[in-house]
Amino acid sequence: MSAALNQEKVHDVLGIGFGPSNLALAIALEEHNRNGADDPVDAIFFERQASFGWHRGMLIDGTTMQVSFLKDLVTTRNPASDFSFLSYLHDKDRLTDFINHKTMFPTRVEYHDYLEWAAGRLADVVRYDSEVVEVQPVEGHFEVVVRHGGRLAVHKARNVVLAVGLEASLPEDAELGERVWHNLDLMHRIPELTEAPKRCVVVGAGQSAAEVTDYLHRTFADAEVCAVFGRYGYSPADDSPFANRIFDPRAVDDFYASSPEVRGKLMEYHRNTNYSVVDLELIEELYARSYQEKVRGHERLRILNATRLVDVETRPAGAEVTVEFEPTGERSVLDADLLVYATGCRPRDPYALLGELARYCAWDEQGTLQVERDYRVRTTEELPGAIYLQGGTEHTHGITSSLLSNGAVRAGEIRDSLLARRKAPTRGYALSRS
Ligand SMILES: Cc1cc2nc3c(=O)[nH]c(=O)nc-3n(C[C@H](O)[C@H](O)[C@H](O)COP(=O)(O)OP(=O)(O)OC[C@H]3O[C@@H](n4cnc5c(N)ncnc54)[C@H](O)[C@@H]3O)c2cc1C
Repeated sequence: MSAALNQEKVHDVLGIGFGPSNLALAIALEEHNRNGADDPVDAIFFERQASFGWHRGMLIDGTTMQVSFLKDLVTTRNPASDFSFLSYLHDKDRLTDFINHKTMFPTRVEYHDYLEWAAGRLADVVRYDSEVVEVQPVEGHFEVVVRHGGRLAVHKARNVVLAVGLEASLPEDAELGERVWHNLDLMHRIPELTEAPKRCVVVGAGQSAAEVTDYLHRTFADAEVCAVFGRYGYSPADDSPFANRIFDPRAVDDFYASSPEVRGKLMEYHRNTNYSVVDLELIEELYARSYQEKVRGHERLRILNATRLVDVETRPAGAEVTVEFEPTGERSVLDADLLVYATGCRPRDPYALLGELARYCAWDEQGTLQVERDYRVRTTEELPGAIYLQGGTEHTHGITSSLLSNGAVRAGEIRDSLLARRKAPTRGYALSRS
């Protein structure tokens, strides 16, 4: 890294990634500074995308948020904030139109526009096209190596907040190709198609899988769309009010206080609020469409349930997909000119970024980072400052870790922790390092 340009200033906070999580933190800090604080926080954020983008590859027209607009970047922390979804609507002169719409769940396209609007107002604290490649502890602060386009620069900060989000999760041995994609790339790749596919295969039974199946079926009016999954049917997401409490800020306290056994139980009970489940409305829509096709005697939407992938041969113009209907073991081959793995996402592993820092961090027996209630990674005493995690803390803070629901409150908690530690710095813990 000797060619890296050294930036002299030592920032209070350096955020890695500028998705909704660190955007919410940037707002919390900006509101603190704006209110005439005598201890303003100097923060900078680095985002590797060329401009703000929230899962752009899945911005399918008509898809809606899985979370109420009241759980926006600020409202649950500061209902009076001018960074709220309602302030955005007001600014765009759509507030009364939205009220008439009578929905709590805006489209993802509109929510993206909201996030972009908020990010645009914080342009002075974020650098795009800037990928963090390394974080190093030095005397008194961290040095963070950032790739800005083609050149490297070293930035300095007393505290680092990682919010690097999710990445595609694929079946083992899956090979992506010209016509074999993960759903996160869907809307980036669709424009590359030179002709409409005749047969599409979508693997998976979660919300994204159902959305992709719906989209391909609507978009390519002559194509057969095969939805392949191991379940007997799509399962509905539980968004009933008592179950929804698992997303409350208070549930984070309860989860954090629990033993590993209780945490495991809570996750298991409430997986169906978020994982491998689909909005009931969409399930019913797909069912109605499939039934209509049966009536007409031309079935384009084929639900291959209780079915597993046996083999996929990726080819330049698609894939040969062998599937097995598990109850009978009967196998068939689908000659697909488009295969989409909608097989989920997983938190990006912070390990690669932490590099040498990893040995100053406390890890549990499962190889996961130990994290304090204020989202600070537990570290040894030698580290010069704190490392905070937004995301990747499902094992300690519960199901909201990778979601939007608790982002506003979490950002406030991290801001408060940063401020409190500045007043009364506490060092890390003395750990035995092996
Ligand atoms: C299609 C889809 C729909 C979803 N819908 C919902 C929903 O309705 N409700 C909900 O609660 N959750 C939803 N989620 C979950 C999702 O994780 C959250 O919505 C949200 O994206 C979390 O924000 P984040 O900032 O933590 O992560 P991200 O939004 O993933 O942002 C992380 C950012 O970090 C950047 N980055 C990564 N590594 C680096 C690096 N080394 N250097 C610089 N930048 C880096 C990335 O480019 C990215 O912009 C959805 C997820 C998907 C995939």
